[in-house]
Amino acid sequence: MKEDIQNIKLKLSNPQDIVILSHRNPDGDAVGSTVALSRFLKKGNHAVKIIYPSEYPLVFQYLIEGMQAPLIYDLNPQECLEAIKTAGVIFLLDFNALDRIDKMGETVMFSKATKILIDHHIDPEPIADFILSDTKASSTSEMVYLFMRDLGMLERLDIQMGEALFTGLITDTGSFRYSTRGLTYQIAGELKNIGVDDYALSNLIFNSLEPKNLKLLGHCLANRMVLLTEHKAAYIFLTKDDYQQFGISRGDTEGIVNYLLMMKDIVLAALITEQPSIIKISLRSKDDINVQQMAAAHFNGGGHKNASGGSAYAKLDDVINRFTKVVPNFVK
Ligand code: 5GP
Ligand code: MN
Repeated sequence: MKEDIQNIKLKLSNPQDIVILSHRNPDGDAVGSTVALSRFLKKGNHAVKIIYPSEYPLVFQYLIEGMQAPLIYDLNPQECLEAIKTAGVIFLLDFNALDRIDKMGETVMFSKATKILIDHHIDPEPIADFILSDTKASSTSEMVYLFMRDLGMLERLDIQMGEALFTGLITDTGSFRYSTRGLTYQIAGELKNIGVDDYALSNLIFNSLEPKNLKLLGHCLANRMVLLTEHKAAYIFLTKDDYQQFGISRGDTEGIVNYLLMMKDIVLAALITEQPSIIKISLRSKDDINVQQMAAAHFNGGGHKNASGGSAYAKLDDVINRFTKVVPNFVK
């Protein structure tokens, strides 16, 4: 580990062409960790490009202000592949399997660049030269802070990087309600000390809904919620028609699944959505209920013990039936 850091430090001691990649449907931690690392590396005179497979939620636009916009594979595939091919160093942040970056996976695999993975998901695949994996970390943003510290370069941390890292901390921990450890709070404290306005960030991120979001939430809870009381589970499903009727777009369903866990006797929750060509499932659980295993075994996915996701090329009803059938195996 120490040796890895020394070798990475050596590699970064000369200016490099660097690409920082994160996963499709980037969340607050993906955007926060990549933006912070990008700003950090630019201060070290590297040329840095951030690439996401698909667009990032507009709510995180404040992190991008004043910097070169990330490249989006869906919008600009050639430019993304070219950047990966010419990079000398590639950072892989907040994911640990190449299928999370869609069609760019192959290009990354064959690239001769030095690859550095920083991530906190379970079961990393051997896809990088340096694998900094810590499933106890609250977020990749927490790990990027520790990476800067371990490089001995925390003096480079500025308020913009701090805001980006703090964004990752609060989004991946649900405002410090889960996945925390002592270090998480210490780092949050350090970031606040350098001037990060946590209250303003919370407002920007969590109090920024449009009326249509609350109407959608009402619809989900009133008309699309199914309780499997006997198994302490519940799910919400959304059809293609719902997407049309409520004008749902990317990011609008974020957080809805968590409402199910607010019920006292529910320990496992799912949001099952009918996308244009795929069914997506988001899984959440309490305590020792392991939805990572459920996602990996039944929905071609993965993630964390208490928050995972996956997908299936199937009909909505089939995925709902599959979920209902396997639930008893995971709730004891
Ligand atoms: P969400 O339910 O919010 O989409 O994702 C929850 C967690 O599961 C995240 O940590 C995310 O990285 C992971 N996850 C979501 N979808 C997939 C997937 O298709 N494959 C894998 N391996 N992980 C996923
Ligand atoms: Mn994360």
